[in-house]
Amino acid sequence: MNTPVGTPTRKRRATPAPAEGPLVDTYGRVHTDLRISVTDRCNFRCSYCMPAEDMAWLPREEILSYEEIERVARVLKRLGVSAVRLTGGEPLVRADVPVLVAKLAALGFDDLSLTTNGVGLSHLAGVLADAGLRRVNVSCDSLDRHRFSSITRRDALDAVLAGMDAAEAAGLAPVKVNVVLMRGINDDEVLDFAAFARQTGRPVRFIEYMPLDAAHAWERPDVVPGQEIVERIDAVYPLEPIGTRDTDPAPADRYRFADGGGEIGVIASITDAFCGTCNRLRLTADGALRNCLFAIQEWSLRDLLRSGASDADLAALCRQVVWAKAAGHGIDTPGFAPPQRSMSQIGG
Ligand code: SAM
Repeated sequence: MNTPVGTPTRKRRATPAPAEGPLVDTYGRVHTDLRISVTDRCNFRCSYCMPAEDMAWLPREEILSYEEIERVARVLKRLGVSAVRLTGGEPLVRADVPVLVAKLAALGFDDLSLTTNGVGLSHLAGVLADAGLRRVNVSCDSLDRHRFSSITRRDALDAVLAGMDAAEAAGLAPVKVNVVLMRGINDDEVLDFAAFARQTGRPVRFIEYMPLDAAHAWERPDVVPGQEIVERIDAVYPLEPIGTRDTDPAPADRYRFADGGGEIGVIASITDAFCGTCNRLRLTADGALRNCLFAIQEWSLRDLLRSGASDADLAALCRQVVWAKAAGHGIDTPGFAPPQRSMSQIGG
């Protein structure tokens, strides 16, 4: 049995993972969604994610090759994974990402998408679309140039907005826009982003700030609750809910503008966690498989891959990882400790 990395603190059920059937955990959640981080490197230094300087990067030899990622993806597809999202770090700073996209597209997932800060899209959107990418999420935390620079530590708002245009022109639509709202930093832009969603037709996803910052500076009062976001927008632009968590396992609670013209969503990871319907697995750039963003335990698929393991061995470990998933992320439980890796090192 593969040895987990990190110290387990949560109790696991002692029964072994099933050897066949869907990729299910002990709570009956079937896993069909895979996040693949292709690099821990990034060309931004968002204050809620990375330090301004001196980030320790993974050594190149520890990073999975595209062939290794493809193999893991193939194994997981056979186990029922149907949607793959590439992320990072910033996925577009790794060389030849379209080559990986083409390999994954050839495996025939129902959905193949990518989360990016958008800067690389102006020159890569067309190539990515041609390689088989379906759509992109672009992160953008302010529509004000100076504030954008201060949050991301890069003066790149225009490049990000141009990247969204390029993605749409290449057919990578809909372009969803991810906004991490932080109290006193950018929460006064809620209505600006709602107006942006209405004007552009781009669904805006407001994400609650999570304790995954490298500085460990997160404090609960910094979180802007999803419910508050919805109420503030609804007061100006009336909203109607789209679907429910029972019908849609996606983490965003979605709303359309009652007068037509676009939608917004809130990802209330802190105040209204969606762990009960979580169907996600995460593969880090160095090949660790994680069953939760907040897990303190992870398993090295890379070590198995590089020790000559068979696909059956890899599949067995994937099943074990899913089987070991806790009921919830536990942020509100006493003694909660965030994982050692920050968001850019896990893959958001
Ligand atoms: N570089 C890409 C990007 O900017 O989207 C992909 C990686 S980034 C880590 C993925 C997402 O995680 C982004 O939308 C980012 O805003 C979000 N994120 C990073 N740190 C976060 C935190 N502490 N809380 C909530 N979301 C965070």
